[in-house]
Amino acid sequence: MGDIKPFRADKPRVYIIDVTNRDGVQSPGVDISDFERTMINKYLNDMGIYQSEFAFPVDSAEENYIISNLELAELGYLSPIKLSGWVRAAYEDVEKAGRYKDLKYLNLSISTSDVMIRGKFQGRKDEKDIISDMVRAVRRAKELGFEIIGVNAEDASRTRHWRDQSYLEEFALAAKDAGADRIRYCDTVGSDISFSIYDRVKQLAEKVMLPMEIHCHNDTGFAVANSIGGAMGALDAGVDVYINTTINGLGERAGNADLVSVLLSLKHSSGLQGEDILDPNIDLRMAWKICNYVSHATDIPIPPNQPGVGANAFSHESGIHADGMLKDHHTYELYSPEELGIPPKEERETGRRIGAGSYSGRSALKYVLEKYGIEAKDMSETLDLMKRATKHNKRSLTPDELRLIVQYPEQIRRML
Ligand SMILES: [Zn+2]
Repeated sequence: MGDIKPFRADKPRVYIIDVTNRDGVQSPGVDISDFERTMINKYLNDMGIYQSEFAFPVDSAEENYIISNLELAELGYLSPIKLSGWVRAAYEDVEKAGRYKDLKYLNLSISTSDVMIRGKFQGRKDEKDIISDMVRAVRRAKELGFEIIGVNAEDASRTRHWRDQSYLEEFALAAKDAGADRIRYCDTVGSDISFSIYDRVKQLAEKVMLPMEIHCHNDTGFAVANSIGGAMGALDAGVDVYINTTINGLGERAGNADLVSVLLSLKHSSGLQGEDILDPNIDLRMAWKICNYVSHATDIPIPPNQPGVGANAFSHESGIHADGMLKDHHTYELYSPEELGIPPKEERETGRRIGAGSYSGRSALKYVLEKYGIEAKDMSETLDLMKRATKHNKRSLTPDELRLIVQYPEQIRRML
């Protein structure tokens, strides 16, 4: 990664906060190891993604992963990406997050809809209590020196938000007053459509005048469309916007907004093409690599019809389509495989194969390291770490994973 390109100050822009390592890891049946989450942070960084919501600072089981990743950020491996934590908007949660002195970015989440306030708190809290809890938590985060504080209105899409009687506005204005830097509009159960989220976010952003975050779930298949709709509402109100995505659309139930689809839409959809609204640091050529890595790590295949990276995304068979494509690929393609970093041929090893796994010895490891051009200073340490990491990931390591254990043994050892 080079230096961060300067942001154009003359107009609001769209940035990406990827939440794979927070919301994505909550997907049913998905088990991503801490080592794999670290690789995901690295690939997001190399892709130029602005921020990775990477951990739950309150969860003591995450401590070693968090410390290691913050160190890797300090050492420049995970830089310039911003690593942010997610906590409940509760004073005691913020206190716990404050134990990590190098954690600078935090999102505080609390439910704002009537159905959730009633359902979760069973009459123990009302709308006023929600605001006072949140304000206390934001003030504490400010005191503890967090640099960017986002406040999440969970279930914002089902929260009272009419022209002159908006609880969502009251909530967001109180957050701003307490020192919040951004407001996250969460379509937690995926109930918005693109028009409703556009209107609601625009109205909210015009009133509050803070950068907005858009967090959409895919329960009716609208997560990507709604993310774009919400983002347009924020831009039209004149503020920056941060779309929350996950790789391969992972996430609870029907998942979250898929990272690559959101980027493709921002670059190629009618009306957005050539508009130059997207963070200029994003390099879509990492798409193929990151999507396949996550598929490999989760053991969930990429569906053939997935936008951009599915096996059929650039396949043409019917007579008219194939004929058109052979004459000019623009006839039936909105974007090209090169743009997504898709290699012309996939290299798969066949025949005799020597791998390095948890029961391998020195010579197998040496063979594999040489094959990928990796130089290990301390072979005994690398062998030990390779075995541990293989057990931890429950599979053999990829070349980039081997590179990581050779380069930062101390940080990796801590999380295994
Ligand atoms: Zn979510």
